[in-house]
Amino acid sequence: KERVFSGVQPTGNLHLGNYLGAIKRFAELQDSYECIYCVVDMHAITQDMRVWGGPEELTRCIREVTAAYLAAGIDPEKHIVFNQSQVSGHGELAWVFNCVARLGWLNRMTQFKEKAGKDRENASVGLYAYPTLMAADILLYRATHVPVGEDQKQHIELTRDIAQKFNNDFAASIARLGLGDAALEGGYFPLTEPLIGGPAARVMSLRDGSKKMSKSDPSDLSRINLTDDADAVASKIRKAKTDPEPLPSEPEGLKGRPEAENLVGIYAALSGEPREAVLASFGGGQFSTFKAALVDLAVARLGPIGGEMKRLVADPGHIDAILRDGANRARTLADATMGQVKDILGFVR
Ligand code: ATP
Ligand code: MG
Repeated sequence: KERVFSGVQPTGNLHLGNYLGAIKRFAELQDSYECIYCVVDMHAITQDMRVWGGPEELTRCIREVTAAYLAAGIDPEKHIVFNQSQVSGHGELAWVFNCVARLGWLNRMTQFKEKAGKDRENASVGLYAYPTLMAADILLYRATHVPVGEDQKQHIELTRDIAQKFNNDFAASIARLGLGDAALEGGYFPLTEPLIGGPAARVMSLRDGSKKMSKSDPSDLSRINLTDDADAVASKIRKAKTDPEPLPSEPEGLKGRPEAENLVGIYAALSGEPREAVLASFGGGQFSTFKAALVDLAVARLGPIGGEMKRLVADPGHIDAILRDGANRARTLADATMGQVKDILGFVR
């Protein structure tokens, strides 16, 4: 079986975008791939902890992301669920990749520009190096596929560039040690493919159709949290920004109408229908009718997940035991890769 790796940062409120763009798809891939799902806590500290929380909040969020994985149906016995900081190979391989990646490559990363904002001089070095750590997360397990939201596409392309350059730079050493893979033309690391798609690969903010829904958005009205109760979901969807036109009957009619497109995409992803079918039912009608149906659908789909998350986080000992067990299994795989990488580089061990 081919191998999937992906992760979610424990940085605050998990939202509908994280669920539809990532976690729901993680669960769907379990029958076709060997899956490794990580709570990327080392990524979380790249953002200023004094702003979004602190050590206690980080601990709470690590358990909450784990609970979301489990509530979405990920099986931690058949697959691996763990938090990144328990496996030292992530940091070790990230350092190697800091020495493979070029400054020019990182300078093009749009996530850094968005997150650093105007005060770039004050951004952490970790925020800048985020993509090399992400490449290490994926390649430490030599994962072939990574399910992510659309916003992470650029980071997966960088991961491929890093794998390619490592394979080229150390081709002779890889061949001498017999560590090359014939399917990769003698390379060591695979050129990982992103799995991005569906109507909700990029869920937008409910307040601004030009911005993606984010955990770090200061406005809670911009997102539907997985743990929101029915009243909160209803009021956020009712207040969601729209335009004055009725809904179109065909997807082409959504062009130039990002807020309408977003709500239709959310409905399609939650119901499992294509957009065409959603618009065939609601096209020509008012937003108020559509929004009421969307509230019912969202509450029906998210309610049980939020409830299960709350039940699971009430027993932190159980969650921590799952993470520890997953980390032990991940470490076995990671140590094997790191040993080979050290040999390829010529480190003595
Ligand atoms: P932060 O604002 O702290 O970066 P985030 O909401 O972007 O938080 P991440 O932990 O960075 O969440 O991303 C976890 C996964 O969720 C990634 O695969 C990412 O692509 C996906 N994702 C995040 N936001 C969205 C969104 N609005 N629509 C679809 N997928 C998303
Ligand atoms: Mg993000």
